[in-house]
Amino acid sequence: MNPSIDSPSPAAARLDPEGLSQRFAAGAPSEIIQWAVDTFGDSLLMTSSFGAESMCLIHLLTRVKPDVRIVLVNTGYLFHQTLIFMEEMRRRYGLNVLEYHSHHDPLVYLTVHGETDPRIRRNVDACCRDNKNEVFDRAMRELAPAAWVRGVRADQSATRSRMKVVEWNARINAWAISPLLNWDHRRIFEYMKHNNLPFHPLWQQGYVSIGCNPETCTRPIAADSDPRQGRWAGLDKKECGIHLDQGAGI
Ligand code: SF4
Repeated sequence: MNPSIDSPSPAAARLDPEGLSQRFAAGAPSEIIQWAVDTFGDSLLMTSSFGAESMCLIHLLTRVKPDVRIVLVNTGYLFHQTLIFMEEMRRRYGLNVLEYHSHHDPLVYLTVHGETDPRIRRNVDACCRDNKNEVFDRAMRELAPAAWVRGVRADQSATRSRMKVVEWNARINAWAISPLLNWDHRRIFEYMKHNNLPFHPLWQQGYVSIGCNPETCTRPIAADSDPRQGRWAGLDKKECGIHLDQGAGI
């Protein structure tokens, strides 16, 4: 990332994000994705956590662009079920997954940073900064996409409710496109059932938003709860940082 860049390139500046967001406000994700692929082609990528409902966006995008780059940020603390699920999806659907890893050895990191119990994380902001945001920023720097497709939804948090379907992201110097922004959990569930898409194996155990495995970071929740309540439960933290302009230290 070049921190000096805080505005779009001349070519990217020709886009009208306000107009596009209005155009797509009631648009179907498939319409937004078709526009994104037509506009950005091979310079497009997406990120995926291979979480509970991740196959919805992956399916929508790979139907239009089967070889799209799918970036997985591997913090070193993902559930082993997530990695197995990713490998299964990669094989079954021929996905072009690019896995980026934390520079830190997971056990050494805990020791050096005084994290004496691997089941919990005492300093979640430092751990997210060092093992997630650094990895994400490095991946974006190396891959240099013109546009980044992400799976955020407006109903997930106050921060996300303020996002636009198409917006400039100065942090990675690329357009951020959120085709699912105006969908809710029910619409995604219906899409996945209709297309016979697999859910993450932990989904049936109440894990509806799945990140890293320490119980401070991901917990199962009751069926009628806000899905994000399972993340960093009891803390003020709502985001790992990759969807925030300032990244870690959140
Ligand atoms: S979600 Fe938890 S384990 Fe994962 S990077 Fe953040 S603090 Fe570390």
